[in-house]
Amino acid sequence: MSKKVLLLPGDGIGPEIVTEAEKILRKVNEQFSLGLTFDQALVGGAAIDATGIPLPEETLEKAKQSDAILLGAVGGPKWDKLEMARRPEKGLLGLRSNLQLFANLRPAILYPQLAAASSLKPEVVSGLDILIVRELTGGIYFGQPRGVRDLENGERQGFNTYVYSESEIRRIGRVAFEAAQQRNGKLCSVDKANVLEVTVLWREIMDELAKEYPDVELSHMYVDNAAMQLVRAPKQFDVLVTGNMFGDILSDEAAMLTGSIGMLPSASLNAEKQGMYEPCHGSAPDIAGQGIANPLATILSAAMMLRYSLQADAAALAIETAVSQVLDQGLRTADIYAEGCERVTTQQMGEAVLAALGA
Ligand code: NAD
Repeated sequence: MSKKVLLLPGDGIGPEIVTEAEKILRKVNEQFSLGLTFDQALVGGAAIDATGIPLPEETLEKAKQSDAILLGAVGGPKWDKLEMARRPEKGLLGLRSNLQLFANLRPAILYPQLAAASSLKPEVVSGLDILIVRELTGGIYFGQPRGVRDLENGERQGFNTYVYSESEIRRIGRVAFEAAQQRNGKLCSVDKANVLEVTVLWREIMDELAKEYPDVELSHMYVDNAAMQLVRAPKQFDVLVTGNMFGDILSDEAAMLTGSIGMLPSASLNAEKQGMYEPCHGSAPDIAGQGIANPLATILSAAMMLRYSLQADAAALAIETAVSQVLDQGLRTADIYAEGCERVTTQQMGEAVLAALGA
């Protein structure tokens, strides 16, 4: 049966980088007989310009009908003055909530060829390959009640509520255990169970789930220690799973270990494994239209899409290997350029990955 991929180029460098990723997807589609079909739609500023809103009904409908979505990026100064509800970013939030994308997967991979780009010593990070699984639609960012209230003594008090139900913990736990099964079989659950009851429950559910995944080795770590271990010895981790707020912070910390934002892919999945895949970076308006953006984060997002939503592991691996080969050849876009390497454009980088995939 054919599988539907929806391409949402978006704004700024979005169209440039999605064009390169699309070429790669079409190539592996042929090479591995994946039976993928492709469609495109408008989102973000591009959709506002054409229809007045960031997430047109047609785009949402196509997104719902697709098996996976590849997004470039949205936003830019042109739309910054619009009221909140009509801003490009609302297009993304609308897709996340309508498709119930509760699991955010953020790998931090440091290709040995780029070890010098990290702010940590090369021997600490070279070859780093970790995956952070962050709960995306619950926890303290969404818990009720929340707000700022007036106290009887005349001062104001701000408050939020950190809540997770068993089912919310279980579904993100399953995504993490299954991801660990597809990788090196190690899962570290991050909590603050020495202080927060909600994460005592989190820990309990993770232990319960571990019995269903005997091939995965589960460990627990407090979030303060995890933050420290990520900069002390990040290669000890394979997969980390954590709640929304801790994941927000740890995934940015892990991303910076690699030093290059143009290399980092991400995925947001729902219970049916339908997913939206996108680079971690934004629309980079400062370099849009110049043909110098790094397309590799988007190309690696396409590889994640093949692995997690389209059950095409071999094709995913082929793309990741091709990216590594291109870096071996010394080809670099401006953002990852180092002396002695060859500076290439967005399109040249895409073509080089295509060539590395072979005939
Ligand atoms: P940004 O990630 O777009 O850019 C930060 C810096 O990194 C810029 O100097 C940019 O040139 C560079 N950069 C980013 N991606 C690159 C790439 N692939 N190759 C080479 N260089 C790259 O972040 P920003 O400047 O804070 O935001 C710009 C716009 O993007 C804003 O409108 C913001 O709201 C939006 N944004 C969108 C998303 C998304 O679509 N998911 C995420 C973050 C920001």
